[in-house]
Amino acid sequence: MENSEMKKIPQIEQIMNDERVGSWFEKISRPLTAASVRRAVSHYREKVISGRAFSEHELYPIIDQVCKGLYDRRIRPVINATGVILHTNMGRSPILPEVWDDCREVNTGYSNLELSLKTGKRGKRNGLVPLLINTLTGAESSTVVNNNAAAVYLLLSTFAAGKEVIVSRGEQVQIGGGFRIPEILAASGAKLVEVGTTNITTLADYLDAVTDDTAMILKVHRANFALRGFTSEPALKKITEALPDGILTVVDQGSGVLNENLPGEKKAQSLIDDGADIISFSCDKILGGPQGGIIAGKKELIDRLDRHPLMRTMRPGKTIYSLLEATLLHRMENPGARSRHAEAADSFEEASEKCRKIKRGLSADIFKMTDDTLCIGGGSTPDEFFASRAIEIISDKMKPERILKILRDSDPPVIGTIKHERAFLNPSALNDDEMKYLKSVLKDIEENL
Ligand SMILES: *Cc1c(COP(=O)(O)O)cnc(C)c1O
Repeated sequence: MENSEMKKIPQIEQIMNDERVGSWFEKISRPLTAASVRRAVSHYREKVISGRAFSEHELYPIIDQVCKGLYDRRIRPVINATGVILHTNMGRSPILPEVWDDCREVNTGYSNLELSLKTGKRGKRNGLVPLLINTLTGAESSTVVNNNAAAVYLLLSTFAAGKEVIVSRGEQVQIGGGFRIPEILAASGAKLVEVGTTNITTLADYLDAVTDDTAMILKVHRANFALRGFTSEPALKKITEALPDGILTVVDQGSGVLNENLPGEKKAQSLIDDGADIISFSCDKILGGPQGGIIAGKKELIDRLDRHPLMRTMRPGKTIYSLLEATLLHRMENPGARSRHAEAADSFEEASEKCRKIKRGLSADIFKMTDDTLCIGGGSTPDEFFASRAIEIISDKMKPERILKILRDSDPPVIGTIKHERAFLNPSALNDDEMKYLKSVLKDIEENL
């Protein structure tokens, strides 16, 4: 009996020819579908071995489930209702749709990425990007690498390998997954010289640590935490004025604040004005561009970075360069226009209005507008929580974790948060289409709550 049931399980090839399975080819490719079928069949075989009668109606849903598991893992749009506007897990800053559209042809065809149209020979790989960055930051020169972690590594490797780098103990940070200042320093071959204490570092601490082997002082934006209480550190200007010649001041500025007024955030230009030799920051945080790391500063130093062999391993391709150029152009032409993520921060009223719009027509017992806080994320304003509003989902039947899982299972997935053991959806980062969609999802789940 067992054996005859086993024989009824179709061959993999036969299953692959079934139209119920064929619909997955476009979504996850034929090889991944085949792998899923094999997995599903092997799982199902176990059941049949343990006495279950073979049924097509059982097998095909299992195959679908395995295929869908893969399909759901694709990189795809999600609705960010977390109240963290630049969320590293969700691709940080959205790229402006008009910027994206502008870059289509350069990316789907050939471009002059590294070709001088004047001479017909190889040119520089950067278009207007450095000129735009120089204008926005006040730096003499600039260059771009794949991300800000790479920027810091390149800076240390080029200027400090085998030498000493002075860093305050209050700035020995870890940023996101695995970017730790002491480790990146060690990896670059530079020697870390720690000065000051966690909460207080003085100008004398820096100056007393200078030796003949000192290459630079590295200042690091704390990005994801804040020091409060009894703390102090010297102003950047005081450090750069007091440092002996030949020792560089490098600032890992992190978030890329250019002309926004964000509490506690220094603008790139002010760091250059205060005498930083070089600054670096991410392109996909406040700047609102693609992933990249910008290095800006003295021309002679940037030239040395550009000539470093490591530069070749970190250079961005046409996609990044074109998107970055278009993002920077857009910013220069629309200095007042702020991207939706930057805007969200100061719009308590707007968040309330958005909550009202989403709630309209839905059960007021289940969906309640409530006070919330919002943060910009992306390593900016770590200690600033802006007053905001969210929709709280109140259910007798379901725990908040379950509610959030159901929302994540919608397509596109909706990502909310749990605060004080309550399920929250903060609409601040959402545009009109996303709001409409969210409303429809809530309407669909309403009766189960
Ligand atoms: C975000 C951040 C980094 C890392 O930047 P990536 O672009 O993610 O590599 C490094 N330093 C600071 C201060 C940051 O805020």
